[in-house]
Amino acid sequence: MAAHMTEAARAALGARLAERLPIRWRTRFAPAPTGYLHFGHAVNAVYVWSIARAFGGKVLLRIENHDRQRSRDAYERAILTDLTWLGLSWDSAGGSEAAPIRQSDRTTTYERQMDALALSDRVYACRCSRREISSHGMTDGELRYPGTCRESGVPFAETPARRLWLSDESIEFDDLNHGSLTQVPAEQCGDLLLRDRLGQWTYQYAVVVDDLELGTDLVIRGDDLLASTGRQILLSERLGRATPPLFLHHPLVLHPDGSKLSKSNGDTSLSELRENGWAPAEVLGHAACLGGLQPTSKAIGADELGDLWRPRA
Ligand code: GLU
Repeated sequence: MAAHMTEAARAALGARLAERLPIRWRTRFAPAPTGYLHFGHAVNAVYVWSIARAFGGKVLLRIENHDRQRSRDAYERAILTDLTWLGLSWDSAGGSEAAPIRQSDRTTTYERQMDALALSDRVYACRCSRREISSHGMTDGELRYPGTCRESGVPFAETPARRLWLSDESIEFDDLNHGSLTQVPAEQCGDLLLRDRLGQWTYQYAVVVDDLELGTDLVIRGDDLLASTGRQILLSERLGRATPPLFLHHPLVLHPDGSKLSKSNGDTSLSELRENGWAPAEVLGHAACLGGLQPTSKAIGADELGDLWRPRA
């Protein structure tokens, strides 16, 4: 379980948000349709929508279905149903209709950015399998690509898999919650996989292109993605983004043994809560408490979420 933030810590985070966010800004809620939403997603949604409401930002909904094997239309439909039930509405990315953005509709964009990146000579084709890479062991719980295909000149026509050659630069960034951090992506994960052997865009690549092209100013997500942030900033620089988005990583809801919530672990989905008689405001209130944004599980409606950032007596 995440700990409650003290009033002082929450006020300080609110002050940093107010100071650093531009006048008009966008964030996004970006679930992968590989399972049903559960309390972990609800906590993230409460952070995203409460901050957007309190500090005047827009929320885009992005369905991260880059993994075609694990994504299901039924999960996507369930995500839309759950958000609508909770009263969390999203904004339009451009036109008049607030349609969700689907990564599977964005292939042309990913290809265009890949072509631009490939001009730099830092993109190479890779024929290594995950098993080969795993045989080199893990560093800090991550597989690190040892650079096997870097200079072997694998022809582009042989495989769709592409990696980005990383130099060992350190990336410094200032997370709104964690403060100043330094990461060296070349040491964490090695050359970044952009597209895999099945021709699927990877999470790291798609998320960076999307945040660049859709104008994300603030990324709000769980601490499990903190380690990915340096490499995403590095990639966004290579794609020509001068200023990376702001990042806020919040605590995850964990089981007492430290494992993450997931539907496959038997954790209750939001749709099951709905069937069991929970009201939307009860789910949001409990999620706000789990995320440390209020001391109790007091019910809170979607349109009151901004109040979580008001000073409390
Ligand atoms: N799709 C990712 C997830 O469901 C979130 C990606 C992100 O916020 O960068 O965990």
